[in-house]
Amino acid sequence: MAGDEAAGSSTRPRAAVLLTGSELVTGVIADANGPWLARELTARGFEVAHLQLVGDRPGDLEAALRYAATAGSALIVTSGGLGPTADDLTGEVVAEFAGVDLVLDEAMRERIAGIVAAFPRAGRDPSALDAAVRKQALVPRGAVALNPAGTAPGLVVPTDAGPLVVVLPGPPRELRALWPAALETAPMRTLLAAVPPAAVRLLRYYGLSEAEIAATLRALEESRDIGGVEVTTCLRRSELEVDLRPRPGAEDAATWLAGQLAERHADRLVSADGTSTDELLAGALLAADLTVGTAESCTGGLLAGRLTDRPGSSLYVAGGVVSYSNEAKVRLLGVPAGLIDAHGAVSPEVARAMADGARAALEAELGIGITGVAGPDGGTPTKPVGFVCLCVTTSSGIVLARDLRLPGNRADVRDRSVDAGMHLLLRAARSVLASSPPSPAAS
Ligand code: ATP
Ligand code: MG
Repeated sequence: MAGDEAAGSSTRPRAAVLLTGSELVTGVIADANGPWLARELTARGFEVAHLQLVGDRPGDLEAALRYAATAGSALIVTSGGLGPTADDLTGEVVAEFAGVDLVLDEAMRERIAGIVAAFPRAGRDPSALDAAVRKQALVPRGAVALNPAGTAPGLVVPTDAGPLVVVLPGPPRELRALWPAALETAPMRTLLAAVPPAAVRLLRYYGLSEAEIAATLRALEESRDIGGVEVTTCLRRSELEVDLRPRPGAEDAATWLAGQLAERHADRLVSADGTSTDELLAGALLAADLTVGTAESCTGGLLAGRLTDRPGSSLYVAGGVVSYSNEAKVRLLGVPAGLIDAHGAVSPEVARAMADGARAALEAELGIGITGVAGPDGGTPTKPVGFVCLCVTTSSGIVLARDLRLPGNRADVRDRSVDAGMHLLLRAARSVLASSPPSPAAS
Protein backbone atom coordinates (compact mmCIF):
# COMPACT_ATOMS: atom_id res chain seq x y z
CA MET A 1 0.00 0.00 0.00
CA ALA A 2 1.36 3.40 -0.89
CA GLY A 3 0.18 6.58 0.75
CA ASP A 4 0.43 9.98 -0.80
CA GLU A 5 2.97 11.49 1.57
CA ALA A 6 2.91 14.84 -0.19
CA ALA A 7 -0.64 15.31 0.98
CA GLY A 8 0.54 16.34 4.48
CA SER A 9 -0.33 15.00 7.89
CA SER A 10 -3.79 13.81 8.69
CA THR A 11 -6.16 15.70 10.95
CA ARG A 12 -8.04 12.52 11.82
CA PRO A 13 -7.66 11.18 15.37
CA ARG A 14 -5.35 8.20 15.70
CA ALA A 15 -6.32 4.79 16.96
CA ALA A 16 -4.22 1.78 17.95
CA VAL A 17 -5.02 -1.93 17.97
CA LEU A 18 -3.43 -4.19 20.55
CA LEU A 19 -3.73 -7.95 20.11
CA THR A 20 -2.79 -10.12 23.04
CA GLY A 21 -2.19 -13.83 23.27
CA SER A 22 0.91 -15.98 23.54
CA GLU A 23 -0.54 -18.26 20.86
CA LEU A 24 -0.35 -15.30 18.47
CA VAL A 25 3.30 -14.46 19.08
CA THR A 26 4.34 -18.11 18.88
CA GLY A 27 2.57 -18.47 15.55
CA VAL A 28 0.21 -21.19 16.76
CA ILE A 29 -2.79 -19.22 15.50
CA ALA A 30 -2.98 -16.42 12.95
CA ASP A 31 -4.45 -13.11 14.04
CA ALA A 32 -7.95 -12.59 12.67
CA ASN A 33 -8.94 -9.59 14.79
CA GLY A 34 -6.32 -6.98 13.82
CA PRO A 35 -7.31 -6.51 10.17
CA TRP A 36 -10.99 -6.61 11.07
CA LEU A 37 -10.63 -3.92 13.76
CA ALA A 38 -8.35 -1.85 11.53
CA ARG A 39 -10.99 -1.80 8.79
CA GLU A 40 -13.74 -0.92 11.29
CA LEU A 41 -11.71 1.95 12.74
CA THR A 42 -10.63 3.26 9.34
CA ALA A 43 -14.21 3.15 8.08
CA ARG A 44 -15.23 5.26 11.08
CA GLY A 45 -12.71 7.95 10.26
CA PHE A 46 -9.80 7.07 12.56
CA GLU A 47 -6.25 6.96 11.33
CA VAL A 48 -5.01 3.59 12.54
CA ALA A 49 -1.50 4.30 13.79
CA HIS A 50 -0.39 0.73 14.38
CA LEU A 51 -1.31 -2.85 15.27
CA GLN A 52 0.72 -4.44 18.05
CA LEU A 53 0.90 -8.15 18.85
CA VAL A 54 1.99 -9.05 22.39
CA GLY A 55 2.11 -12.24 24.45
CA ASP A 56 0.31 -12.75 27.75
CA ARG A 57 2.87 -10.89 29.88
CA PRO A 58 1.63 -7.95 31.95
CA GLY A 59 4.85 -5.97 31.38
CA ASP A 60 4.61 -6.28 27.59
CA LEU A 61 0.95 -5.42 27.59
CA GLU A 62 1.56 -2.35 29.71
CA ALA A 63 4.45 -1.24 27.49
CA ALA A 64 2.26 -1.63 24.41
CA LEU A 65 -0.48 0.51 25.99
CA ARG A 66 2.04 3.19 26.90
CA TYR A 67 3.53 3.14 23.41
CA ALA A 68 0.10 3.59 21.82
CA ALA A 69 -0.66 6.49 24.18
CA THR A 70 2.71 8.12 23.51
CA ALA A 71 2.12 7.86 19.76
CA GLY A 72 -0.93 10.07 20.25
CA SER A 73 -3.75 7.54 19.98
CA ALA A 74 -7.14 8.81 21.14
CA LEU A 75 -8.42 5.25 21.15
CA ILE A 76 -6.86 1.88 21.90
CA VAL A 77 -8.77 -1.30 21.14
CA THR A 78 -7.46 -4.51 22.70
CA SER A 79 -8.33 -8.12 21.88
CA GLY A 80 -7.94 -11.13 24.14
CA GLY A 81 -7.07 -11.99 27.70
CA LEU A 82 -10.51 -11.50 29.19
CA GLY A 83 -11.20 -15.08 30.20
CA PRO A 84 -11.21 -16.69 33.65
CA THR A 85 -7.70 -18.17 33.60
CA ALA A 86 -4.53 -16.80 35.19
CA ASP A 87 -3.04 -15.76 31.84
CA ASP A 88 -6.09 -13.60 31.13
CA LEU A 89 -4.95 -10.30 32.57
CA THR A 90 -6.00 -7.55 30.19
CA GLY A 91 -8.65 -6.11 32.53
CA GLU A 92 -6.14 -5.86 35.36
CA VAL A 93 -3.40 -4.28 33.29
CA VAL A 94 -5.76 -1.77 31.68
CA ALA A 95 -7.11 -0.77 35.13
CA GLU A 96 -3.56 -0.11 36.26
CA PHE A 97 -2.83 1.83 33.07
CA ALA A 98 -5.94 3.94 33.74
CA GLY A 99 -4.86 4.41 37.34
CA VAL A 100 -8.03 2.93 38.86
CA ASP A 101 -8.80 -0.14 40.94
CA LEU A 102 -11.01 -3.08 39.99
CA VAL A 103 -14.47 -3.26 41.48
CA LEU A 104 -16.90 -6.15 41.45
CA ASP A 105 -19.87 -5.52 39.19
CA GLU A 106 -22.50 -7.51 41.07
CA ALA A 107 -25.07 -7.48 38.23
CA MET A 108 -22.41 -8.70 35.83
CA ARG A 109 -21.34 -11.42 38.28
CA GLU A 110 -24.90 -12.72 38.38
CA ARG A 111 -25.21 -12.56 34.62
CA ILE A 112 -21.98 -14.53 34.07
CA ALA A 113 -22.97 -17.04 36.77
CA GLY A 114 -26.22 -17.59 34.86
CA ILE A 115 -24.35 -18.18 31.60
CA VAL A 116 -21.85 -20.54 33.26
CA ALA A 117 -24.67 -22.47 35.00
CA ALA A 118 -25.99 -23.48 31.58
CA PHE A 119 -22.74 -25.38 30.82
CA PRO A 120 -22.34 -28.98 31.92
CA ARG A 121 -20.25 -28.76 35.10
CA ALA A 122 -19.77 -32.40 36.12
CA GLY A 123 -16.52 -32.79 38.00
CA ARG A 124 -15.86 -29.06 38.28
CA ASP A 125 -15.01 -27.55 41.62
CA PRO A 126 -17.82 -25.10 42.51
CA SER A 127 -15.55 -22.75 44.45
CA ALA A 128 -13.08 -22.55 41.55
CA LEU A 129 -16.01 -21.83 39.28
CA ASP A 130 -17.23 -19.04 41.56
CA ALA A 131 -13.74 -17.53 41.61
CA ALA A 132 -13.60 -17.63 37.81
CA VAL A 133 -16.98 -15.93 37.50
CA ARG A 134 -15.96 -13.32 40.06
CA LYS A 135 -12.72 -12.59 38.20
CA GLN A 136 -14.59 -11.92 34.97
CA ALA A 137 -17.01 -9.57 36.74
CA LEU A 138 -14.20 -7.29 37.97
CA VAL A 139 -14.47 -3.96 36.19
CA PRO A 140 -12.05 -1.02 36.33
CA ARG A 141 -13.68 1.76 38.36
CA GLY A 142 -15.50 4.19 36.03
CA ALA A 143 -15.53 1.75 33.09
CA VAL A 144 -18.57 0.55 31.17
CA ALA A 145 -18.96 -3.24 31.07
CA LEU A 146 -20.38 -4.75 27.87
CA ASN A 147 -22.63 -7.78 28.08
CA PRO A 148 -20.69 -10.91 27.12
CA ALA A 149 -21.22 -12.87 23.91
CA GLY A 150 -19.37 -15.82 25.50
CA THR A 151 -18.64 -15.51 29.20
CA ALA A 152 -16.22 -12.58 29.11
CA PRO A 153 -17.70 -9.07 29.25
CA GLY A 154 -16.02 -6.35 27.23
CA LEU A 155 -14.90 -3.07 28.80
CA VAL A 156 -14.86 0.55 27.76
CA VAL A 157 -12.31 2.27 29.99
CA PRO A 158 -11.81 6.05 30.00
CA THR A 159 -8.41 7.21 31.23
CA ASP A 160 -7.66 10.65 32.66
CA ALA A 161 -6.18 12.79 29.90
CA GLY A 162 -5.23 9.63 28.04
CA PRO A 163 -6.77 7.46 25.35
CA LEU A 164 -10.06 5.67 25.68
CA VAL A 165 -9.41 1.92 25.94
CA VAL A 166 -11.89 -0.60 24.56
CA VAL A 167 -11.18 -4.11 25.81
CA LEU A 168 -12.69 -6.96 23.78
CA PRO A 169 -12.48 -10.76 24.08
CA GLY A 170 -10.14 -12.69 21.80
CA PRO A 171 -12.40 -15.22 20.07
CA PRO A 172 -13.24 -13.45 16.77
CA ARG A 173 -16.94 -14.27 16.97
CA GLU A 174 -17.18 -12.75 20.46
CA LEU A 175 -15.09 -9.72 19.54
CA ARG A 176 -17.30 -8.90 16.55
CA ALA A 177 -20.46 -9.46 18.59
CA LEU A 178 -19.37 -6.97 21.27
CA TRP A 179 -18.06 -4.25 18.95
CA PRO A 180 -21.44 -2.64 18.11
CA ALA A 181 -22.23 -2.37 21.84
CA ALA A 182 -18.84 -0.73 22.44
CA LEU A 183 -19.64 1.87 19.77
CA GLU A 184 -22.91 2.68 21.52
CA THR A 185 -21.36 3.51 24.91
CA ALA A 186 -21.31 7.15 26.04
CA PRO A 187 -17.49 7.59 25.99
CA MET A 188 -17.26 6.09 22.49
CA ARG A 189 -20.08 8.25 21.20
CA THR A 190 -18.35 11.35 22.52
CA LEU A 191 -15.13 10.32 20.81
CA LEU A 192 -16.85 9.42 17.53
CA ALA A 193 -18.65 12.78 17.46
CA ALA A 194 -15.25 14.46 17.17
CA VAL A 195 -14.10 12.26 14.25
CA PRO A 196 -14.82 13.70 10.82
CA PRO A 197 -16.65 11.10 8.75
CA ALA A 198 -14.36 9.27 6.38
CA ALA A 199 -16.14 9.75 3.09
CA VAL A 200 -14.24 7.17 1.14
CA ARG A 201 -14.42 6.55 -2.55
CA LEU A 202 -13.04 3.30 -3.84
CA LEU A 203 -12.24 2.80 -7.51
CA ARG A 204 -11.45 -0.72 -8.66
CA TYR A 205 -9.45 -1.50 -11.81
CA TYR A 206 -8.33 -4.64 -13.58
CA GLY A 207 -5.31 -4.54 -15.87
CA LEU A 208 -4.08 -1.14 -14.67
CA SER A 209 -0.66 -0.77 -13.05
CA GLU A 210 0.30 1.34 -10.04
CA ALA A 211 2.75 3.22 -12.26
CA GLU A 212 -0.04 4.23 -14.65
CA ILE A 213 -2.29 5.49 -11.87
CA ALA A 214 0.65 7.39 -10.33
CA ALA A 215 1.32 9.07 -13.67
CA THR A 216 -2.35 10.02 -14.00
CA LEU A 217 -2.36 11.47 -10.48
CA ARG A 218 0.71 13.56 -11.26
CA ALA A 219 -0.95 14.88 -14.41
CA LEU A 220 -4.16 15.72 -12.54
CA GLU A 221 -2.22 17.54 -9.82
CA GLU A 222 -1.15 20.03 -12.48
CA SER A 223 -4.70 21.09 -13.21
CA ARG A 224 -6.11 21.20 -9.69
CA ASP A 225 -4.97 21.17 -6.06
CA ILE A 226 -5.73 17.69 -4.73
CA GLY A 227 -3.47 17.97 -1.68
CA GLY A 228 -6.45 17.63 0.65
CA VAL A 229 -7.29 14.19 -0.66
CA GLU A 230 -5.49 11.20 0.82
CA VAL A 231 -4.92 8.72 -2.00
CA THR A 232 -4.00 5.11 -1.29
CA THR A 233 -3.45 2.48 -3.96
CA CYS A 234 -3.41 -1.21 -3.21
CA LEU A 235 -3.04 -4.33 -5.37
CA ARG A 236 -5.49 -7.05 -4.36
CA ARG A 237 -6.45 -10.18 -6.27
CA SER A 238 -4.99 -8.87 -9.55
CA GLU A 239 -6.96 -5.67 -9.11
CA LEU A 240 -5.81 -2.18 -8.33
CA GLU A 241 -7.86 -0.45 -5.67
CA VAL A 242 -7.65 3.31 -5.41
CA ASP A 243 -9.02 4.73 -2.19
CA LEU A 244 -9.77 8.46 -1.96
CA ARG A 245 -10.29 10.04 1.45
CA PRO A 246 -10.90 13.78 1.64
CA ARG A 247 -9.76 15.78 4.62
CA PRO A 248 -12.32 18.31 5.86
CA GLY A 249 -12.86 20.90 3.14
CA ALA A 250 -11.53 18.73 0.30
CA GLU A 251 -14.77 16.88 -0.50
CA ASP A 252 -15.23 18.66 -3.84
CA ALA A 253 -11.67 17.92 -4.87
CA ALA A 254 -12.23 14.24 -4.04
CA THR A 255 -15.41 14.11 -6.14
CA TRP A 256 -13.61 15.74 -9.04
CA LEU A 257 -10.62 13.41 -8.69
CA ALA A 258 -12.83 10.30 -8.58
CA GLY A 259 -14.58 11.43 -11.76
CA GLN A 260 -11.30 12.11 -13.55
CA LEU A 261 -9.75 8.78 -12.55
CA ALA A 262 -12.85 6.87 -13.64
CA GLU A 263 -12.94 8.66 -16.99
CA ARG A 264 -9.24 8.44 -17.82
CA HIS A 265 -9.07 4.68 -17.34
CA ALA A 266 -12.67 3.81 -18.19
CA ASP A 267 -11.59 0.81 -20.27
CA ARG A 268 -10.10 -0.91 -17.23
CA LEU A 269 -12.46 0.39 -14.54
CA VAL A 270 -14.34 -2.42 -12.82
CA SER A 271 -16.36 -0.29 -10.43
CA ALA A 272 -16.34 3.31 -9.22
CA ASP A 273 -18.08 2.61 -5.91
CA GLY A 274 -15.97 -0.21 -4.52
CA THR A 275 -18.34 -3.00 -5.53
CA SER A 276 -16.37 -6.24 -5.83
CA THR A 277 -15.95 -8.17 -9.04
CA ASP A 278 -17.66 -11.18 -7.49
CA GLU A 279 -20.66 -9.07 -6.56
CA LEU A 280 -20.79 -7.43 -10.01
CA LEU A 281 -20.59 -10.79 -11.76
CA ALA A 282 -23.34 -12.28 -9.61
CA GLY A 283 -25.51 -9.22 -10.29
CA ALA A 284 -24.90 -9.31 -14.05
CA LEU A 285 -25.61 -13.04 -14.33
CA LEU A 286 -28.82 -12.67 -12.33
CA ALA A 287 -29.92 -9.61 -14.31
CA ALA A 288 -29.32 -11.39 -17.63
CA ASP A 289 -30.78 -14.64 -16.30
CA LEU A 290 -27.69 -16.64 -17.26
CA THR A 291 -26.09 -19.77 -15.88
CA VAL A 292 -22.39 -20.62 -16.04
CA GLY A 293 -20.64 -23.91 -16.63
CA THR A 294 -16.89 -24.14 -16.03
CA ALA A 295 -14.26 -26.35 -17.61
CA GLU A 296 -10.98 -26.10 -15.74
CA SER A 297 -7.62 -27.66 -16.29
CA CYS A 298 -4.74 -25.79 -14.61
CA THR A 299 -7.00 -24.19 -11.98
CA GLY A 300 -8.38 -27.58 -10.90
CA GLY A 301 -11.79 -26.30 -9.82
CA LEU A 302 -10.66 -23.08 -8.11
CA LEU A 303 -12.87 -20.96 -10.37
CA ALA A 304 -15.92 -23.07 -9.59
CA GLY A 305 -14.99 -22.71 -5.92
CA ARG A 306 -14.75 -18.93 -6.22
CA LEU A 307 -18.08 -18.71 -8.05
CA THR A 308 -19.82 -20.83 -5.44
CA ASP A 309 -18.31 -18.90 -2.51
CA ARG A 310 -21.31 -16.63 -2.63
CA PRO A 311 -24.54 -17.71 -1.01
CA GLY A 312 -27.30 -17.97 -3.59
CA SER A 313 -24.89 -18.89 -6.39
CA SER A 314 -27.02 -21.93 -7.30
CA LEU A 315 -29.17 -19.44 -9.21
CA TYR A 316 -26.42 -18.87 -11.78
CA VAL A 317 -23.82 -21.64 -11.42
CA ALA A 318 -24.80 -24.78 -13.35
CA GLY A 319 -21.67 -26.72 -12.42
CA GLY A 320 -18.10 -27.40 -13.35
CA VAL A 321 -15.83 -30.00 -14.89
CA VAL A 322 -12.23 -30.44 -13.76
CA SER A 323 -10.73 -31.85 -16.93
CA TYR A 324 -7.09 -32.23 -16.02
CA SER A 325 -6.06 -34.98 -18.41
CA ASN A 326 -6.44 -34.93 -22.18
CA GLU A 327 -8.76 -37.95 -21.89
CA ALA A 328 -11.03 -36.04 -19.52
CA LYS A 329 -11.17 -33.13 -21.93
CA VAL A 330 -12.21 -35.51 -24.71
CA ARG A 331 -14.56 -37.74 -22.71
CA LEU A 332 -16.28 -35.21 -20.44
CA LEU A 333 -16.26 -32.12 -22.63
CA GLY A 334 -16.21 -33.53 -26.16
CA VAL A 335 -13.00 -31.71 -27.06
CA PRO A 336 -11.86 -33.36 -30.34
CA ALA A 337 -8.71 -35.43 -29.74
CA GLY A 338 -7.39 -34.15 -33.07
CA LEU A 339 -7.64 -30.57 -31.82
CA ILE A 340 -5.42 -31.41 -28.85
CA ASP A 341 -2.96 -33.23 -31.13
CA ALA A 342 -2.84 -30.33 -33.54
CA HIS A 343 -2.56 -27.41 -31.08
CA GLY A 344 -1.62 -28.90 -27.73
CA ALA A 345 -3.77 -29.09 -24.57
CA VAL A 346 -2.73 -25.55 -23.66
CA SER A 347 -3.98 -23.57 -26.62
CA PRO A 348 -6.66 -21.02 -27.45
CA GLU A 349 -8.38 -23.62 -29.62
CA VAL A 350 -8.68 -26.11 -26.78
CA ALA A 351 -9.80 -23.41 -24.32
CA ARG A 352 -12.62 -22.55 -26.69
CA ALA A 353 -13.61 -26.17 -27.20
CA MET A 354 -13.61 -26.61 -23.42
CA ALA A 355 -15.92 -23.59 -23.00
CA ASP A 356 -18.32 -24.97 -25.63
CA GLY A 357 -18.06 -28.42 -24.02
CA ALA A 358 -18.88 -27.03 -20.56
CA ARG A 359 -21.93 -25.26 -21.95
CA ALA A 360 -23.17 -28.42 -23.62
CA ALA A 361 -22.38 -30.80 -20.76
CA LEU A 362 -23.93 -28.55 -18.13
CA GLU A 363 -26.69 -27.00 -20.25
CA ALA A 364 -25.50 -23.51 -19.36
CA GLU A 365 -25.76 -20.29 -21.36
CA LEU A 366 -22.18 -19.31 -20.54
CA GLY A 367 -19.21 -21.64 -20.72
CA ILE A 368 -15.65 -20.92 -19.68
CA GLY A 369 -12.55 -22.95 -20.49
CA ILE A 370 -9.22 -22.48 -18.71
CA THR A 371 -6.09 -24.35 -19.72
CA GLY A 372 -2.54 -23.34 -18.90
CA VAL A 373 0.93 -24.20 -17.63
CA ALA A 374 0.88 -23.62 -13.85
CA GLY A 375 4.42 -24.91 -13.40
CA PRO A 376 6.93 -25.29 -12.00
CA ASP A 377 7.56 -27.89 -14.77
CA GLY A 378 6.01 -28.35 -18.17
CA GLY A 379 6.98 -25.04 -19.76
CA THR A 380 8.31 -24.82 -23.30
CA PRO A 381 9.83 -21.85 -25.17
CA THR A 382 6.51 -21.11 -26.88
CA LYS A 383 4.35 -22.06 -23.92
CA PRO A 384 6.29 -21.11 -20.80
CA VAL A 385 5.17 -21.51 -17.21
CA GLY A 386 2.40 -18.97 -16.66
CA PHE A 387 1.01 -19.27 -20.19
CA VAL A 388 -2.75 -19.59 -19.73
CA CYS A 389 -5.54 -19.63 -22.32
CA LEU A 390 -9.04 -18.62 -21.31
CA CYS A 391 -12.19 -18.52 -23.37
CA VAL A 392 -15.80 -17.70 -22.63
CA THR A 393 -18.50 -18.61 -25.12
CA THR A 394 -22.21 -17.92 -24.85
CA SER A 395 -25.25 -19.57 -26.35
CA SER A 396 -25.97 -16.23 -28.05
CA GLY A 397 -22.72 -16.50 -30.01
CA ILE A 398 -20.34 -14.25 -28.06
CA VAL A 399 -16.73 -15.47 -27.92
CA LEU A 400 -14.22 -13.75 -25.63
CA ALA A 401 -10.71 -15.14 -25.49
CA ARG A 402 -7.54 -14.20 -23.62
CA ASP A 403 -4.08 -15.70 -23.74
CA LEU A 404 -2.01 -14.58 -20.78
CA ARG A 405 1.55 -14.84 -19.56
CA LEU A 406 1.15 -14.69 -15.83
CA PRO A 407 4.04 -14.11 -13.42
CA GLY A 408 4.69 -15.91 -10.17
CA ASN A 409 4.80 -19.42 -8.80
CA ARG A 410 2.27 -22.21 -9.28
CA ALA A 411 -0.15 -20.80 -6.67
CA ASP A 412 0.13 -17.29 -8.13
CA VAL A 413 -0.51 -18.52 -11.67
CA ARG A 414 -3.56 -20.47 -10.58
CA ASP A 415 -4.96 -17.56 -8.51
CA ARG A 416 -4.41 -15.04 -11.29
CA SER A 417 -6.00 -17.40 -13.81
CA VAL A 418 -9.11 -17.51 -11.63
CA ASP A 419 -9.11 -13.69 -11.38
CA ALA A 420 -8.81 -13.47 -15.17
CA GLY A 421 -11.67 -15.96 -15.52
CA MET A 422 -13.90 -13.88 -13.25
CA HIS A 423 -13.22 -10.75 -15.29
CA LEU A 424 -13.77 -12.50 -18.61
CA LEU A 425 -17.08 -13.87 -17.34
CA LEU A 426 -18.05 -10.38 -16.17
CA ARG A 427 -17.28 -8.93 -19.60
CA ALA A 428 -19.31 -11.66 -21.27
CA ALA A 429 -22.30 -11.23 -18.94
CA ARG A 430 -22.21 -7.46 -19.48
CA SER A 431 -22.08 -7.98 -23.26
CA VAL A 432 -25.12 -10.23 -23.11
CA LEU A 433 -26.93 -7.64 -20.97
CA ALA A 434 -26.02 -4.85 -23.38
CA SER A 435 -27.18 -6.78 -26.44
CA SER A 436 -30.45 -8.08 -25.01
CA PRO A 437 -33.55 -5.88 -25.23
CA PRO A 438 -34.58 -4.52 -21.82
CA SER A 439 -37.14 -6.68 -20.09
CA PRO A 440 -40.62 -5.18 -19.57
CA ALA A 441 -39.94 -4.96 -15.84
CA ALA A 442 -36.80 -2.91 -16.36
CA SER A 443 -38.23 -0.46 -18.90
P1 ATP B 1 -11.63 -16.74 26.57
O1 ATP B 1 -12.70 -16.43 27.55
O2 ATP B 1 -12.12 -17.60 25.43
O3 ATP B 1 -10.35 -17.17 27.15
P2 ATP B 1 -10.20 -14.30 25.98
O4 ATP B 1 -10.71 -12.94 25.75
O5 ATP B 1 -9.44 -14.54 27.22
O6 ATP B 1 -11.41 -15.30 25.83
P3 ATP B 1 -7.93 -15.33 24.68
O7 ATP B 1 -7.73 -16.22 25.87
O8 ATP B 1 -6.90 -14.30 24.43
O9 ATP B 1 -9.33 -14.61 24.76
O10 ATP B 1 -8.13 -16.19 23.40
C1 ATP B 1 -9.05 -17.27 23.39
C2 ATP B 1 -9.03 -17.92 22.03
O11 ATP B 1 -9.60 -17.02 21.07
C3 ATP B 1 -7.64 -18.22 21.48
O12 ATP B 1 -7.16 -19.44 21.92
C4 ATP B 1 -7.88 -18.20 20.00
O13 ATP B 1 -8.44 -19.42 19.57
C5 ATP B 1 -8.92 -17.11 19.85
N1 ATP B 1 -8.26 -15.83 19.57
C6 ATP B 1 -7.81 -14.95 20.48
N2 ATP B 1 -7.25 -13.88 19.88
C7 ATP B 1 -7.36 -14.08 18.56
C8 ATP B 1 -6.98 -13.34 17.40
N3 ATP B 1 -6.37 -12.15 17.50
N4 ATP B 1 -7.25 -13.88 16.20
C9 ATP B 1 -7.85 -15.07 16.09
N5 ATP B 1 -8.23 -15.82 17.13
C10 ATP B 1 -8.01 -15.35 18.36
MG1 MG C 1 -8.46 -16.55 27.63
